[in-house]
Amino acid sequence: HSHRRSNYQQLRKIGQGSFGSCFLVRDTKTGKQFAMKRILVANVKDAAKVKDSALQEAGLLRNLSSPFIVELHDVFYDEEQTHICMVMDYCSNGDLHDRIQRYIAERRTPSKAQVAQIITWFVQITYALYYCHDKNVLHRDLKTQNIFLRSDNIAQLGDFGIARELASSMEMAQTVVGTPYFMAPEVLRRRPYRKAADIYSLGCVLYEMLTGKYPYPARDINDLLHKMRVSKYPKDIETIKTYPFGADLYDILKKTLALDPADRLTARGLLSHPFIKHRIQAIQ
Ligand code: ADP
Ligand code: MG
Repeated sequence: HSHRRSNYQQLRKIGQGSFGSCFLVRDTKTGKQFAMKRILVANVKDAAKVKDSALQEAGLLRNLSSPFIVELHDVFYDEEQTHICMVMDYCSNGDLHDRIQRYIAERRTPSKAQVAQIITWFVQITYALYYCHDKNVLHRDLKTQNIFLRSDNIAQLGDFGIARELASSMEMAQTVVGTPYFMAPEVLRRRPYRKAADIYSLGCVLYEMLTGKYPYPARDINDLLHKMRVSKYPKDIETIKTYPFGADLYDILKKTLALDPADRLTARGLLSHPFIKHRIQAIQ
């Protein structure tokens, strides 16, 4: 099943990612529309090995089934064997990043109803992450741009960082590709990626939803690492205490954005946090 002719007709390009393009496609048999990501794998060192492991990992993603994860339907190589194609649900309602920007344009700090909505999204994404971590699948690229909103406002985790993994074995000019703001300090220091790094990124997502900002605004990775050394927590974290549900949100931010991975809660730990625990049933 690893390579075959594509049964998908490209309708238009949705956007350009750091590792490839994303297209709106149509399944020629059923007429159904999907989003298809094409990731270039031709220039990789050890191409055969890298392609195998990418396909294997994509296979893992196909087994993830949760209301809070964008469904991956199909994975294959294109005809020329230069790209991995990942066919997933098309999320037409935009991503969390755009939604947050619209919130923030309206008012500096979110209303109580908006905070309640943010908490619901956070619980949904935390649950999705718990579901993955329980199966030993890491996300690796958790950020508000990779969380999509369904028409019924449910948040879905999309776009797992397979591409990022591939990139690390590619001979690329840039040292780190993509947005570094959500990367845990240990990842910036090129330590092995572990579950706790996803938790740090999850904390960044919550922080951005609440403040409209990244925890440490920075010019580049060195600047980012410098700012982390200078202050143990993001500058505006104290203001969260004044928000509706502020005490609990502050506590969760401290336990996800901790610079030392050992000080962060696990996804399971987050789900048993009293503030989250009694909200789980409501989302299921
Ligand atoms: P990046 O590497 O920056 O995450 P992507 O290739 O994931 O870039 O995404 C490129 C564009 O396609 C983005 O605008 C993103 O919102 C959009 N996109 C990605 N996946 C989907 C999807 N499943 N449904 C709709 N749009 C998507
Ligand atoms: Mg993306």
